Amino acid sequence: MSLSPIPDALRLALTAVRGAVRDHVPLAPSSHLRIGGPAQCLVEAATEQDVAWVVRACREHGVPLRVLGGASNILIADEGVAGVVLSLERLNRVVRDGTRLCAGAGVTVPSLIRLSREQGLAGLEVLTGVPAQVGGAVAMNAGTREGETFDLLESILVVDRDGELSELRRDAFQARYRDGGLAGRIVVSATFELREDDPRAIRERFETYLRYRNATQPITERSIGCVFRNPPGDAAGRLIERAGCKLLRDGGISVSGKHANYFVNDGSGSSAEFVRLIHTVAGRVADNSGVGLELEIKTWDVRGLDEFMAP
Ligand SMILES: Cc1cc2nc3c(=O)[nH]c(=O)nc-3n(C[C@H](O)[C@H](O)[C@H](O)COP(=O)(O)OP(=O)(O)OC[C@H]3O[C@@H](n4cnc5c(N)ncnc54)[C@H](O)[C@@H]3O)c2cc1C
Repeated sequence: MSLSPIPDALRLALTAVRGAVRDHVPLAPSSHLRIGGPAQCLVEAATEQDVAWVVRACREHGVPLRVLGGASNILIADEGVAGVVLSLERLNRVVRDGTRLCAGAGVTVPSLIRLSREQGLAGLEVLTGVPAQVGGAVAMNAGTREGETFDLLESILVVDRDGELSELRRDAFQARYRDGGLAGRIVVSATFELREDDPRAIRERFETYLRYRNATQPITERSIGCVFRNPPGDAAGRLIERAGCKLLRDGGISVSGKHANYFVNDGSGSSAEFVRLIHTVAGRVADNSGVGLELEIKTWDVRGLDEFMAP
């Protein structure tokens, strides 16, 4: 991949960031799939103001900016990612106010579920088994059959494309299935309105949901969740299974035997193999059932998948 250098003026602007700025940082270790080349420049924001500053600076200098959450829904190119990747991992504070929890975008959903349970606050356990950060869960409106992120939100603190910070109520967003409707805004924190409940009752629900997730999805393996969107009135996993693709393999990537809409990495896989398996599986589904599958996962600098992008 040929990269345009990061302009010196942007480098200078980024020296004002209180977090860290590093070049050529491997992204695979941060990715749930353990795949992906380096970020040309990785910025770890330490404050909300850092986020606003980085947005303004990248915009001014015309450099692409991508926000990294838990990377549990992104396929990252083996060759790496051009421009600036912004990590919000350091925005990891949680503040309680009555039955509300305000969590920084970098707080992991599993840790927030644990904390809320310990505090006797119910609601978040519907997201059991989702390995996201709070920002990524809001951006994707992550959900399960028990409920979704936007059902639990009161308000979201965002940075918009102009680098302005504002707190918006949840009804300011047009959230849909697996899409928070952020329109390019970056989530820096989210306030969840929960309800009081007995921690033991919350734990019981959590364990029930976890048992179900474990039985039906490969949640302990390296994946990026459901690869394809469910076509109207059907389930992509069912179509993939019907096309005989369960356990189909390309190098280190295979179709999960537990849930055919998950592709798992045995530790030796690459983004290129993941892409080839998408083509093979989608081709077999098209031949078998006539359905053209579209991708649910996000891709960063990955080539050869245009035909599977939702319009
Ligand atoms: C084992 C497994 C199980 C899963 N189960 C489910 C499930 O049950 N339900 C479900 O909905 N999903 C599920 N997923 C998919 C994934 O966890 C969700 O899509 C999740 O919301 C992604 O969050 P993330 O923090 O990992 O975001 P990432 O994957 O890092 O990013 C996803 C997108 O959100 C953007 N983004 C990230 N953070 C922010 C931010 N702060 N502000 C603005 N944009 C941001 C990114 O730029 C990217 O476009 C699963 C994934 C795995 C690996």
